[in-house]
Amino acid sequence: MKRIGLLTSGGDAPGMNAAIRAVVRTAIYYGIEVFGIERGYAGLIEDAIMPMEMRSVSDIVQRGGTKLRTARCLEMLTVDGQKQAVATLHKHGIEGLVVIGGDGSFRGAKCLAEDYGIPTIGIPGTIDNDLEYTDYTLGFDTAVNTCLDIINKLRDTMTSHERISVVEVMGRHCGDIALYAGITSGAEIIVVPEIAYNIEDIVTRINRSRANGKRSNIIVIAEGVMSAEAFAKQLQEVTTYSVRATTIGHIQRGGSPSMADRMLAAQFGNKAVHLLKDGIGNRVVGIRNNSIIDMDIIEAVSMKKKFNYELYETLQMISM
Ligand code: ATP
Repeated sequence: MKRIGLLTSGGDAPGMNAAIRAVVRTAIYYGIEVFGIERGYAGLIEDAIMPMEMRSVSDIVQRGGTKLRTARCLEMLTVDGQKQAVATLHKHGIEGLVVIGGDGSFRGAKCLAEDYGIPTIGIPGTIDNDLEYTDYTLGFDTAVNTCLDIINKLRDTMTSHERISVVEVMGRHCGDIALYAGITSGAEIIVVPEIAYNIEDIVTRINRSRANGKRSNIIVIAEGVMSAEAFAKQLQEVTTYSVRATTIGHIQRGGSPSMADRMLAAQFGNKAVHLLKDGIGNRVVGIRNNSIIDMDIIEAVSMKKKFNYELYETLQMISM
């Protein structure tokens, strides 16, 4: 393979830039040309493409966001849009494609691979950690660390005023950010889309913790359940402790990637190019049991994300 394309798609995630760098530098190492495609599939359809050199990716390993920018592109869902995307690849002599993004972006990659025969490799870049085939996605670790920073600060003020803090984190269908941020911040309760909550049980838990000497409580709620405001309102009706709501919002998406995310980015980017170099396409890369793996793209997108009930039980036991 002499020339490959690279795009970032869907929601941005810290570590996407580090992955772009790893793809470009590995490709150059093997004498493969790389074309960067702007704004995901939108740029592919509109022919917004530029050659990338060694120095095109200087000074980005530490930056959040994505240098190639990203977009959600409805046109890519249509056959006309897909044909246009393929035409752009052919026009530039691009023989393989690396797609950095989440579940939706992988569906686009699967379509290019399966329906149009374009060898495509997916790199999981999304803060949600909602892909079953990989233990971690790029950006998740940084996003959780951002949440921890904020929850630590909230804990200070909640303890001073003996309040309950309801903190809303991202996750429409997947509660992983709430689960990991909850366990590692010492939150007493998490509320996630995967598990139905009972407000009376939550009040019992809060009362028990107060009887045991706790002066504040942190409840981490995933956005997919409801807003922090709505949940705080509901809780305030059944408790005498003062409840406050905080929504972390888009801050979770930005910021300098953590060591863990930069390391994943380096390994994922490197692996993606190795696969294309060896003529292997239609795969996604990931990490399982601390090893970098690759898997058939169709199989990967068909796997349903499972919630980690063991970690949830751990939280219930240690956060009292
Ligand atoms: P995040 O997890 O951060 O939301 P994502 O990659 O899942 O990221 P989506 O908005 O779901 O984000 O998908 C990104 C883009 O992928 C879509 O805007 C669309 O262009 C393309 N895409 C999604 N599904 C398909 C599909 N079935 N066929 C072709 N392209 C698709």
